[in-house]
Amino acid sequence: MSKLCQGPSCHMYDTTDRKRGPKGNKRNITRSVGTYSYGSNNFCTLNCQNDWAKEYMDRAVDYFGRLREPKAMTPENSWTKRERYSWQDEYTQGQYYYRNVCTNEERPLTESQYNDSTYTLNTGE
Ligand SMILES: [Zn+2]
Repeated sequence: MSKLCQGPSCHMYDTTDRKRGPKGNKRNITRSVGTYSYGSNNFCTLNCQNDWAKEYMDRAVDYFGRLREPKAMTPENSWTKRERYSWQDEYTQGQYYYRNVCTNEERPLTESQYNDSTYTLNTGE
């Protein structure tokens, strides 16, 4: 079961793949998201994503928390997980590491730490 496009005007775009119904009474309906998807698999085209943003983005940002003060990069909040590949013995090996984008310091990271979305060295906002 594929997801329906969340574009509020998806059915208003006139394409043959949107037409449904008996001959003489065909109507355009909302598309399903399909192979080429946008906006985390919620829209069939960039147009539909933009239509949604125009109508709902302000409310969505307010709902999830509008940024009121600028954020600042500090050594305490600037660790990012990275992966680099090295080619040895004809196969690739992923090497995981933390990189502090503020200080450029690097620290090794295990694969399970890399894949653990809760594991972080960031201690400051
Ligand atoms: Zn759409």
